[in-house]
Amino acid sequence: MSSKYKEPAPIKDALNPLESMMERFDEAADILGLDSGIYNALKFPEKSFEANLTITMDDGSIKVFQAFRVIHSALLGPSKGGIRYSHLVNSQEVKALAAWMTWKCAVVGIPYGGAKGGIKCDPREMSSGELERLTRAYTNAMQDVFGPDKDIPAPDMGTNAQVMAWIMDEYSKVKGQSTPGVVTGKPKVLGGSEGRFEATGRGVMVSTRTAMGKLKINPTSSTCAVQGFGNVGSISAKLIGQQGVKIVAISDISGGYYKKDGFNIPEVIEYINKNNGTLEGLQADKIGNEELLTLDVDILVPAALEDQITEKNANDIRAKLIVEGANGPTAHKADDILTKNNVVVVPDILANAGGVTVSYFEWVQNQIGYFWTEERVNRRADRIMKQAFEQVWQVSKRYNVSLRTAAYILAIDKVAQTKKLRGIF
Ligand code: NAD
Repeated sequence: MSSKYKEPAPIKDALNPLESMMERFDEAADILGLDSGIYNALKFPEKSFEANLTITMDDGSIKVFQAFRVIHSALLGPSKGGIRYSHLVNSQEVKALAAWMTWKCAVVGIPYGGAKGGIKCDPREMSSGELERLTRAYTNAMQDVFGPDKDIPAPDMGTNAQVMAWIMDEYSKVKGQSTPGVVTGKPKVLGGSEGRFEATGRGVMVSTRTAMGKLKINPTSSTCAVQGFGNVGSISAKLIGQQGVKIVAISDISGGYYKKDGFNIPEVIEYINKNNGTLEGLQADKIGNEELLTLDVDILVPAALEDQITEKNANDIRAKLIVEGANGPTAHKADDILTKNNVVVVPDILANAGGVTVSYFEWVQNQIGYFWTEERVNRRADRIMKQAFEQVWQVSKRYNVSLRTAAYILAIDKVAQTKKLRGIF
């Protein structure tokens, strides 16, 4: 079963994602002149849950796994966020990712708060049966946390549609009623949405196209490099390529690949599907992953890991536009360097929000028990992405700040206003 599981991204010890998120939060809060009480209310998660899950392994031994679910905010609606299975999961990381979800949902204007969950385990080392028992134990432990009107998980690194199916099944059994809306990212046959598989990459493409329009970059004379060739990277590359942009560099864990005349991305996708999901052996010039980031291209799409663009390589970036498919690919210290060098960055909380937007559509369809066509899903998601981009762009002009700071300003202002309107004890 391991091939279906995503590679957990290493979180470097030196960089604490919570601190990195807070730096950006602080900057936006300063500009907004956020009341210190509200600041503290939004800084800390509303609720955190921790459980030790005991399961029987295939060899009969008994193992205990540490599990988390953090609800950063349920102000704008039920909290929403993925579940990560990785041996690197820790409470700080889950807290940062939960806050990120609050800001992401607020930026695109969907009625959700933010949450994140995780289990410290190595899914690649576990059998399907062990993963199923672990997932069911987690769902049991979180039965009063999860709920279609309370807290709605989704896949993240190390989890997939099958894991969501187990959660949906276990939750429905415990509650004694079929509850598909308790998770999103389910298989279609269990109430998953059309368009969900491509949603994040599609949102990256819409963000890229909209940014190119603003910056007057002509697609047909432009080049693009994409780091990472998993769900987000491969689909972003395919759809950006369809806009006429030449995709000259791609990469995955096996390294970077360059073709001056551009890749035929659908053919590359076919190649990896037959090649155990990897680009290894692809006919092209081999380059390093570092080199890919600093190529002379118009657009760069980091769609692999955190902290790829740092203060060390930010000055060498030659792209005019960076569209963050991954979560947190740019370290905080690189932001100022990129801004100084006039590199426009479409931040993660905007650029990759297409995924959570279509997750929201999945939940809506589950709640009403009626399913939309892929065409309808895409049209509505594209509209939300374009509107969100436009709003962030206007805020960046109004405050004369980067798109990242603008996205945080927009999100924090929305959540802070909601906090005040809903009232405080
Ligand atoms: P994935 O596991 O499908 O793909 C990750 C890709 O990155 C793989 O091709 C892997 O080989 C590659 N990779 C790993 N290490 C690398 C390295 N050192 N250099 C270059 N490539 C490397 O994961 P994904 O779902 O595409 O997610 C990628 C990023 O996008 C993550 O940051 C994730 O949090 C974020 N994201 C994903 C979604 C979604 O819907 N899948 C939504 C929002 C954000």
